[in-house]
Amino acid sequence: MSDCIFCRIIKGEIPSDTIYEDGDMLAFRDITPQAPVHFLVIPKKHIGSLMEAEREDASLLGKLLHKAGELAAEQGCSERGARFVINCKSDGGQTVDHLHIHVLGGRMMMWPPG
Ligand code: 5GP
Ligand code: ZN
Repeated sequence: MSDCIFCRIIKGEIPSDTIYEDGDMLAFRDITPQAPVHFLVIPKKHIGSLMEAEREDASLLGKLLHKAGELAAEQGCSERGARFVINCKSDGGQTVDHLHIHVLGGRMMMWPPG
């Protein structure tokens, strides 16, 4: 989608601090980090939100989650862990309508979220 900010990052039209890329996905640091480690894992396919994902996207979703865990460990979170978050639509606090997994680490997270 030409007007989607994350699609524009994927196309290289907007710079990002990329930590991983393959044919299916991109992972890059959040521009407004909420923790010492905060990056996003996104599919290259434009999917508006988790609730727009289709059955055929199941394997892609699995790859995203698996890579999110692997990258969290690489970024120094293997011992103390991390928080993996998918905000969905307005009540979920989603502000960019391109499915993304937040990975937050390097500090203790609160529960429940506000
Ligand atoms: P959401 O609120 O939709 O779950 O998360 C969107 C995230 O994208 C926010 O944490 C926000 O800081 C991040 N973000 C928005 N625009 C950009 C951008 O242009 N570059 C990067 N790296 N992150 C962005
Ligand atoms: Zn998009």
